[in-house]
Amino acid sequence: MKRKLGLVYGGKSAEHEVSLSTATAVTNAIDFGKYEVIPIYITYEGEWRKGEPLTTPAETKEQLRFERDKTKPDSIHDFLNGNGTPDIILPLLHGTNGEDGTVQGLFEVMNIPYAGNGVLASSAGMDKVVMKQLFALVGLKQVPYVHFIRTQWKADQSYWIKKMEEELTFPMFVKPANLGSSVGISKATDHDSLIAAVDFALKFDRKIIVEQGVSAREIEVGVLGNDDPQCSVLGEIKPVAAFYDYEAKYQDGNTELLIPAPVQGEVETTLKEMAIRAFKVLDCSGLVRADFFVTDQDEVIINEVNTMPGFTPTSMFPLLWQNTGVSYPELIDTLIELALERHEEKK
Ligand code: ADP
Ligand code: MG
Ligand code: MG
Repeated sequence: MKRKLGLVYGGKSAEHEVSLSTATAVTNAIDFGKYEVIPIYITYEGEWRKGEPLTTPAETKEQLRFERDKTKPDSIHDFLNGNGTPDIILPLLHGTNGEDGTVQGLFEVMNIPYAGNGVLASSAGMDKVVMKQLFALVGLKQVPYVHFIRTQWKADQSYWIKKMEEELTFPMFVKPANLGSSVGISKATDHDSLIAAVDFALKFDRKIIVEQGVSAREIEVGVLGNDDPQCSVLGEIKPVAAFYDYEAKYQDGNTELLIPAPVQGEVETTLKEMAIRAFKVLDCSGLVRADFFVTDQDEVIINEVNTMPGFTPTSMFPLLWQNTGVSYPELIDTLIELALERHEEKK
């Protein structure tokens, strides 16, 4: 019997289009002899639409952006009940409602195995402040930072500015705590741009983190596994923009990825060891991409982990594994097997 594999993609998120590209690529990599693929499309408005099972790979992402069949019951109802409930789910979502534990919680409640991180790792990994606090618990080196919520900022803006200017030096990176893909992030170079950057970030989140800027190389490591996670080779990002912003990530195609990254022996060992420590302290499962800064003095600083890293065939995470000897179809299979393994372990 073929396994019913639910692909969940799209979503009420800035990464909607990226997710559709990933879903298209995944249908092209999946063994239709082994799986019946059920497309589950979440629209920009957050409406869930379950499509007819796919029998062939999608040629374009437009094929996966279908209308709802209004003659049928409401699709989330249909999804949750009875006929055609998937045996396993591949959530190909990024950001809010996709990577932050909320959708993972839904699958937990439904008792359906799903690929990638669970509720705790997803939500802890989505909040940059919580993530950093957990990293600190296991001694992972990080940049100095200050954090506050909107209410605190509104109550005493000058206190927070003074604190930031005392504890950190320019440039600073101002970020909404709960986003990814560089959305809402700006680099502040002086007092005035700092205030503007905080006001801008507050449009996206009520919690803000302001970090000491570092001038360093950006090196990333793929981690794959459950209780015994393994690291990929290292990759380096060479952004052409002022920093690795949204356009650089998804639009201009100018960012150069160096795989494997030219990194010396001891630094490589440190990076991999830190990636595993980060994976474990967040209680990750399935996969994580751990992102680091490496300074000219070979100091290794963790920036963040991404619990659902970019997953198109030209994204860093799949490329890292391809260079480690795991092809894109094998990577998808592995994630499905790891999901089933975790589901069994929980029992
Ligand atoms: P996201 O989760 O949106 O990817 P990041 O924290 O990774 O957010 O920040 C996005 C990019 O901004 C990084 O890849 C890096 O280029 C730059 N950046 C972020 N924080 C710093 C920092 N403290 N120092 C220097 N560059 C930074
Ligand atoms: Mg991120
Ligand atoms: Mg990042």
